[in-house]
Amino acid sequence: MTRRAVVVGAGIAGLAAALQLHRIGWEPVVIERAPARRSSGYVVAFFGRGYDAAERMGILPALCERHVGAARPQ
Ligand SMILES: Cc1cc2nc3c(=O)[nH]c(=O)nc-3n(C[C@H](O)[C@H](O)[C@H](O)COP(=O)(O)OP(=O)(O)OC[C@H]3O[C@@H](n4cnc5c(N)ncnc54)[C@H](O)[C@@H]3O)c2cc1C
Repeated sequence: MTRRAVVVGAGIAGLAAALQLHRIGWEPVVIERAPARRSSGYVVAFFGRGYDAAERMGILPALCERHVGAARPQ
């Protein structure tokens, strides 16, 4: 039986949780109250635990293609 989870918020925390749940066989549904993606975006830089988490999730190469500034573990 597939386990289902509702994830509230499509920020980095919600999307990371949904991705990891999906990878272990859950069926996550992400609920986002904003009507659309942010139009301006944020600067992306990685430090310490954020860098480590991205590396463990296997998304570091894709994120590094978009990063501004230093990207290294601390
Ligand atoms: C201008 C700016 C620049 C930044 N630059 C960096 C940076 O370079 N590097 C870095 O590491 N961090 C940066 N940050 C911080 C980083 O953006 C936040 O730490 C991060 O976005 C927090 O992620 P989150 O998923 O916890 O929350 P959020 O990104 O706030 O996501 C929460 C989401 O949940 C949704 N939501 C909330 N309540 C509900 C509800 N009841 N129902 C449905 N949806 C809901 C919101 O609409 C939102 O989309 C920056 C922040 C700002 C403002």
